[in-house]
Amino acid sequence: MKNLKGLFHALFLLAGLALAPRASALEVFACEPEWGALAQELGGDHVSIYVATNALQDPHQIQAKPSLLARARRAELVVCTGSELEIGWLPIVLRQSGNSAVQPGKPGYFEAAGSVPKLEIPTRLDRAEGDIHPGGNPHIQTDPRNISRVAAALAQRLAEVDAPNATYYQSRYRDFAKRWDAALQRWQTEAAPLKGMTIVVHHKSWAYLNAWLGLREIAELEPKPGVEPTAAHLEEIQALLKREPARVIIRAAYEDGRASTWLSEHAHIPAVALPFTVGATDKARDLFGLFDDSLQRLLAAQRCTEKHECSELEGGR
Ligand SMILES: [Zn+2]
Repeated sequence: MKNLKGLFHALFLLAGLALAPRASALEVFACEPEWGALAQELGGDHVSIYVATNALQDPHQIQAKPSLLARARRAELVVCTGSELEIGWLPIVLRQSGNSAVQPGKPGYFEAAGSVPKLEIPTRLDRAEGDIHPGGNPHIQTDPRNISRVAAALAQRLAEVDAPNATYYQSRYRDFAKRWDAALQRWQTEAAPLKGMTIVVHHKSWAYLNAWLGLREIAELEPKPGVEPTAAHLEEIQALLKREPARVIIRAAYEDGRASTWLSEHAHIPAVALPFTVGATDKARDLFGLFDDSLQRLLAAQRCTEKHECSELEGGR
């Protein structure tokens, strides 16, 4: 009986500890800048965020560096895209971190793509088709409606892994969702003229943006996903565009601009670099800026095509 009482007492103390306010901020390890930015919106001063990659890195080509391992070791919540985007480095980093709290399947591991209906799920997997993402296109952050979905799920997860601050995360989420919905309305109005615009893209990074804005993709500069553009393939696209014209060439700011520039000069259509994630351009300082800047760049490219007003266009940052 006495032992049982002792056990209850110990359990009571443990429960008390679990619910006590944290002395330090929750350590969040974000794989990409967009999720770091979202975790910051939702977590405020209760989170300390480390972003594993920067906006001018190719997110498909990250190396499992020791600095990432050290950060993963002390992380309490890992926030990544998933859908195999980080397949080349994250599993190694997580395994070698020895941090059991952030392994896949644990509450400390969060995949943004899990909250979003996926596009371009391949019907067959063939390595000859290039660097195919078997779980569907992982570049979900290019549609702000996906950001809403991920925000709801991430707020819930923050509340789960840091229960004493649950109400704080919930109220920050409500505030974010309100501002995001208002921005979404504004973006949809601003972007209306882009509907049906035909585009050529560097990599298949824009499936979700296309679905959101009603853009129509005619071709990709990469002959296969993950394979650098070749002269032969660019000439094929140039020929294709004579039959099926495209208005604008789109690439991510991190991608090499030479192929876009070549096609732009030969097909006489503007090429535009979009930030693709937070931090890639001066204006894309946060998630709101990411979409403000992306739309402004697309609209400027369209004015260049339609009205030959090209002065505000410049390829890079
Ligand atoms: Zn990709």
